[in-house]
Amino acid sequence: MSEQTETIKPEPATARKDSKETQVGSVFVSNYPPYSFWRKDNMPVLMDVLNSSTNSPIETPLGLYLHIPFCRKRCKFCYFRVYTDKNSSEIETYLDALAREVSLYSKLPRFHGRPLTFVYFGGGTPSYISVKHLKTLVNRLKASMPWDDAEEIAFECEPGTLTQSKLAAIKEIGVTRLSLGVENLNDAILNENGRAHLSKEVYAVVPWIKDLEFEQVNVDLIAGMVGETWASWRDTVKKTIDLDLDSITVYQMELPFNTVYSNDILGGGTGLSVANWKTKREWHQHAFEQFAAAGYEASSAYTMVKKGSPINFVYRDAVWHGCDMIGAGVASFSHVGGVHFQNASVWDDYIRLLNQNELPHDRAFPTTPREQLIREMILQLKLGKIETGYFREKFGADISELFGSTYKKLRDEGMLTYSSNEISLTRKGLLQVDQLLPEFYQPKYRNARYT
Ligand code: SF4
Repeated sequence: MSEQTETIKPEPATARKDSKETQVGSVFVSNYPPYSFWRKDNMPVLMDVLNSSTNSPIETPLGLYLHIPFCRKRCKFCYFRVYTDKNSSEIETYLDALAREVSLYSKLPRFHGRPLTFVYFGGGTPSYISVKHLKTLVNRLKASMPWDDAEEIAFECEPGTLTQSKLAAIKEIGVTRLSLGVENLNDAILNENGRAHLSKEVYAVVPWIKDLEFEQVNVDLIAGMVGETWASWRDTVKKTIDLDLDSITVYQMELPFNTVYSNDILGGGTGLSVANWKTKREWHQHAFEQFAAAGYEASSAYTMVKKGSPINFVYRDAVWHGCDMIGAGVASFSHVGGVHFQNASVWDDYIRLLNQNELPHDRAFPTTPREQLIREMILQLKLGKIETGYFREKFGADISELFGSTYKKLRDEGMLTYSSNEISLTRKGLLQVDQLLPEFYQPKYRNARYT
């Protein structure tokens, strides 16, 4: 029986490797199966899917993710492909390649006649590029893939890169959700962790942002940055509430491979202290309690939104429900017609391939129905609640039977509750959701490197 036609059998529960300390190699679960299993030799399967229009129903939402890989400085906890040394002409070269890439996709049968449901400018720092560069890029992108009817245009910003005129340009290109990478409001902590901005830049831009009345403005925070204490975290939480924005997202500090901090630790560096998981969860919980008292309610394991505000997370929900997404840009990740793929992860390769008018793919992974089901189930668990009916309808599978032994084990540990209709994470489970999800992996992917 081939992987693509396998029947879906129940998965046994396995023990979780609980670690008290934040160790190098800890990860935020953003996809499944793990990236380390994606291969170059899967490229022919990918091209078959892109060149056909039949594999996924036309109503599958389609989104576009644009990776803008420039930052003023590399944060010491950052593992993304970013460049801090590119001049204006190199940025222009990159944006030209990015526009060409999207144009190449627009000509493929897979995408004919399909509107974009969302566009996401991520990075890196999309707000790093100039107004002139941004407008030229958007005009070229829209000429190949119009997005005037998209439900959401999201744009990530670093406070210190924003000016009033740049914000006006961001609004003018149709951005509906602005996400402000604040991370912390203590200058000593921002400085220690290598952030390019300080708190005064946050306070300078928030009034400009409010004046422009974006549909939604989100603030990102990280619980557990190096140097954090209970006193400094309480203060950051309070000051974030005082900013009075639409939603607040809290991530817990991870130590993935290939960050300045992780390399320092692996190289024997001493004196570096990242709070342990228990402390980070307590800080996360404290923040959520304070936000709730200030009128916010949970929208996922990470995000709280102002109660009663008509806020949608189109990108998040589409990706977690298995949409097709073109990820354009160096090292970007895509998912189309059940196939994961990643672009060339090095600048020169990415630019060279697009100069040759070739799609800049590097590796791919065709997923089986079981892998698609597990991917959606674990990602949707981050919402706090999943409905068995959704999986029955989409995959013809009863998740309470398939994953029954793992749900039971996690229920006995106080992480979730379940009935025949839904599975709900408890607060305890939500606070450590990324450590729980690997328990649902198929055995061949457990204990393997994630990236
Ligand atoms: S601003 Fe974001 S993308 Fe840039 S280095 Fe810092 S964490 Fe990485």
